[in-house]
Amino acid sequence: MKFSLKGKTAIVTGGGSGIGKAISLTFASQDAKVHILDFDHASSLETVAEINKLGKHAVAHTCDVSNQEKVNDIIAQIGENGSLDILVNNAGIAHVGNIEAVSEQDLDRLYNINIKGVYNCSKAIIPYMKEKGHGVILNLASVASSVGISDRFAYSMTKGAVLTMTYSIARDYVEYGIRSNCISPGRVHTPFVDGFIKKNYPGNEAEMFEKLSKTQPIGRMANPQEIADLALFLCSDEAKFITGTDYPIDGGFIKLK
Ligand code: NAD
Repeated sequence: MKFSLKGKTAIVTGGGSGIGKAISLTFASQDAKVHILDFDHASSLETVAEINKLGKHAVAHTCDVSNQEKVNDIIAQIGENGSLDILVNNAGIAHVGNIEAVSEQDLDRLYNINIKGVYNCSKAIIPYMKEKGHGVILNLASVASSVGISDRFAYSMTKGAVLTMTYSIARDYVEYGIRSNCISPGRVHTPFVDGFIKKNYPGNEAEMFEKLSKTQPIGRMANPQEIADLALFLCSDEAKFITGTDYPIDGGFIKLK
């Protein structure tokens, strides 16, 4: 990969697992100083250990992105000690069910993490980016954001909001040199998908894995590195003309079906 992040500081939420872990490792390998915000401290420490093995630097912060006060404290602490160049809003959770199957409690949890988490982190970092006159915010949306996925009412709804937050921030802050884009993956083979299959289809895991893989015309799930490579490009200076847009990376799910 030729896209260097040398001299940049990046915050990656949910960097302890799956896509966020691959993004953290990729950014660090391209010389970004990476800060991971994850509520699972043990897994973020594992990511940091893997980054350290590459001879690179990263810091793990225990943080639930839905907690605005905690997010503000951590971002202020990082911002006071240097620049804040990149934010990847990756932390997110899934839910299975149509509208009748979504309890108010489920809806609040999805809202708090998938929407408010993006709001909290973006709102906290933008003043620092404005002051420097540059910054990149990259959000992990989903194919569900634009087309809706059956039996994923709350997930599709919250990921739709991620898409529109991305566009709105891009419009409001383009004059400050802040770029805002999102990536919309189809199915990516991460613990998120494994956990989801295990919880919702017990005893049928292998069959379900195969079925979900085949929903993508390419016939397989993406691997997290494929998402991280796109994230690296979009957060690098090579993508400096790109803002206010969405990049589906879905094995043809949206356009070829
Ligand atoms: P994952 O479950 O493997 O990892 C998510 C990480 O986020 C975990 O480390 C978890 O501890 C952390 N996290 C969850 N809630 C958090 C919170 N409130 N505060 C801080 N950290 C929190 O998930 P993944 O598959 O890598 O997915 C990452 C993102 O990509 C999510 O936003 C997801 O919606 C999106 N996405 C995933 C897929 C897929 O198929 N895996 C497809 C489309 C979009």
